[in-house]
Amino acid sequence: MACPPMPDSSPRRFSGDTLVIASHNRGKVSEIADLLRVHVRTFRSAAELNLPEPDETGTSFVANAELKARAAAAGGLVALADDSGLAVTALGGQPGIHSARWGGPARDFLVAMTRVNQELGATPDRSACFVCALSLAWPDGHCETVEGRITGTLVWPPRGDHGFGYDPIFVPDGYDQTFGEVPPATKHAISHRADAFRQLVARCFP
Ligand code: IMP
Repeated sequence: MACPPMPDSSPRRFSGDTLVIASHNRGKVSEIADLLRVHVRTFRSAAELNLPEPDETGTSFVANAELKARAAAAGGLVALADDSGLAVTALGGQPGIHSARWGGPARDFLVAMTRVNQELGATPDRSACFVCALSLAWPDGHCETVEGRITGTLVWPPRGDHGFGYDPIFVPDGYDQTFGEVPPATKHAISHRADAFRQLVARCFP
């Protein structure tokens, strides 16, 4: 009797010319394009292609990255989306996928950092991690998804002017400065985003 074929578990590789970056944020689009320029000839952004921004209805970073990537890939080209945020252990992983929203309508990160600190109160466990999910989707719905992270400790008050978001209260493990204090090149080498991109490149852009 013939053996049934083994399911194909090897990752799908990007082999096209053009990649859609499923974001309407110009800064993010150019940062991602810079990271993948050696592997991809042409980039298009979701804004350029007038692709609608789907509601982020997922309950995890991975689910949200996949739904954004699949929505953009439905336009006919391979698309890459990300979703990231801060997960605080003693807060059960919050603010998590709601990290941007904790800054309120003005996306004021002093407000967001203050809320994290207030909710932690006197809790001795100040551990947290930044998470970044990256999903590459094809027009047939196939996704290759990775999740990068960096663990660290939260401090108060905020320190440093570099970076964005929750950087001034996050001290990565092995350092004594916050992400707001370390040189940007240091953050870019060790961050959750760097980890996720390293995994994605090894998997899909070798
Ligand atoms: P988004 O994935 O671009 O929507 O980012 C979600 C939110 O997570 C940001 O608005 C920040 O609040 C937070 N976040 C994600 N990555 C970082 C980081 O590298 N430093 C600080 N905050 C971050």
